[in-house]
Amino acid sequence: MPKNADEMLEAAASRPDELAAPGLSPRPRRKVAVLSCMDTRIDLFPMLGLERGDAHIIRNAGGLATDDALRSLSASQRLLGTEEVVVVMHEGCGLHGASEDDYRQMLAGDGILPTWRLGAFDDLEATLSHSLARLRAARELPHREHIRGFIFDPEDGSLREVEAPGA
Ligand SMILES: [Zn+2]
Repeated sequence: MPKNADEMLEAAASRPDELAAPGLSPRPRRKVAVLSCMDTRIDLFPMLGLERGDAHIIRNAGGLATDDALRSLSASQRLLGTEEVVVVMHEGCGLHGASEDDYRQMLAGDGILPTWRLGAFDDLEATLSHSLARLRAARELPHREHIRGFIFDPEDGSLREVEAPGA
């Protein structure tokens, strides 16, 4: 019997004073949104020097610039005042080298034909560059001058920048 949800409620109930943010604005203080892979090893707040209230954090499998990531980034900029985007991908991603075809077949085996792709990729840098290019071309985002991409290596803790072609 899984009990994480119960333990989570207990954890929150044990420290409401720590969790409360009375008066803290929902508008990110540093006017930045971070799009990152959901990987368990990526701890964005210490990695990027962020505090609560500083940034929007959008996470998905891969840290890919999907339609839904774009929806969130658009809301972040147009409704909540962010002007910069940082995309974080990483070494050792579960989507790196995965098979789009095998995944589709797995779903098809359960009678499902999804409208979305898994997002499997073979080249980490090229995939990040492609995401940056998509965001830089997305007119949903009024602020596209400051869109940067980083790759984290969970093995050694390094974070490096990847530039989009022609940027
Ligand atoms: Zn990942």
